[in-house]
Amino acid sequence: MKLITSLLAAAAISVASFAVPAFAQDKGTVGISMPTKTSTRWISDGETMEKLFTEAGYTADLQFADDDIPNQLAQIENMVTKGAKVLVIGAIDGTTLSDILAKAHDAGVKVIAYDRLIRDSGNVDYYATFDNFQVGVLQATSLVDGLKAQFGDVKPWNVELFGGSPDDNNAFFFYDGAMSVLQPLIDSGDIVIKSGQQGMDQVGTLRWDGAVAQARMENLLSSTYTDAQVHGVLSPYDGLSIGILSALKGVGYGSGDQKMAVVTGQDAELPSVKSILADEQYSTVFKDTRELAKVAVNMTDAILGGKEPEVNDTKTYDNGVKVVPSYLLKPVSVDKSNAKDILVGAGYYTEDQINN
Ligand code: BGC
Repeated sequence: MKLITSLLAAAAISVASFAVPAFAQDKGTVGISMPTKTSTRWISDGETMEKLFTEAGYTADLQFADDDIPNQLAQIENMVTKGAKVLVIGAIDGTTLSDILAKAHDAGVKVIAYDRLIRDSGNVDYYATFDNFQVGVLQATSLVDGLKAQFGDVKPWNVELFGGSPDDNNAFFFYDGAMSVLQPLIDSGDIVIKSGQQGMDQVGTLRWDGAVAQARMENLLSSTYTDAQVHGVLSPYDGLSIGILSALKGVGYGSGDQKMAVVTGQDAELPSVKSILADEQYSTVFKDTRELAKVAVNMTDAILGGKEPEVNDTKTYDNGVKVVPSYLLKPVSVDKSNAKDILVGAGYYTEDQINN
């Protein structure tokens, strides 16, 4: 009888433990607003955050805005209406969110700018990103390394510059970081910008659109390089690099005895990693989006737990109204020599994904 009683008790306990939901507390809803799905990095950012927030006991409301500003505003407004406690926003245009963030603030919602700074608003509480100036430094350093390796015997090097989207604060940091390396070489005459096009107002690429970059590169090739060779192209993002490489290949670069120009990139997107291994794109910059997602989740947990989130930069990111306390991760330069070690080593890609 004793045995039966204790068996029944054990069964009751195990039934009870089945009844416990997988995520015991509901810590509330977090709105995750990502800019677009056209680039895989943003899908990875969004999906990693959705998973981590869910595991930590939050309800994640993940939305992608298709690079359409009104769409992003409507999605954020909806998150606020539905009672999100924190918004994590990767802005399309960092200057368009002031009104909706004022509403969010009035409703007590905290705001984390994700990867891209949100400008012109006092209602941005924290910023999680990579060291964006350093991204540009890495791109230009790798461009110069590539020029030395591929065209060491030619001087001056003909180089063209591409910038990111002028409505994305990061684009200016990437450009300024790159120019901190390139300008001294332009001044010394080692590098010539043969088209004369310099400065974000001349080299920016609205919405980071690869087709726009390809068209501009095609124009540059037909206007400036009919009887000269372009040796290097500063490209701030893999999606632009692929367009630039298409334009170059279209007029014979990379075939016969016409060497491919040295083209940089960013994000270590799969097509670019494959292109690097195939000796087309020269390099990219790896930013582990899984780590950035973790920073945003930790910040949220701290904010809602009444603690100060960890930051490591309180000087750099002035959004026009305030200096936003930031956590900066380190970007890593990747080229053919280290691509597999770094990307497969970090578990970002499998060997199979890279090789096939
Ligand atoms: C991000 C880059 C990305 C670019 C285009 C920038 O804000 O920091 O990682 O390449 O947007 O999506």
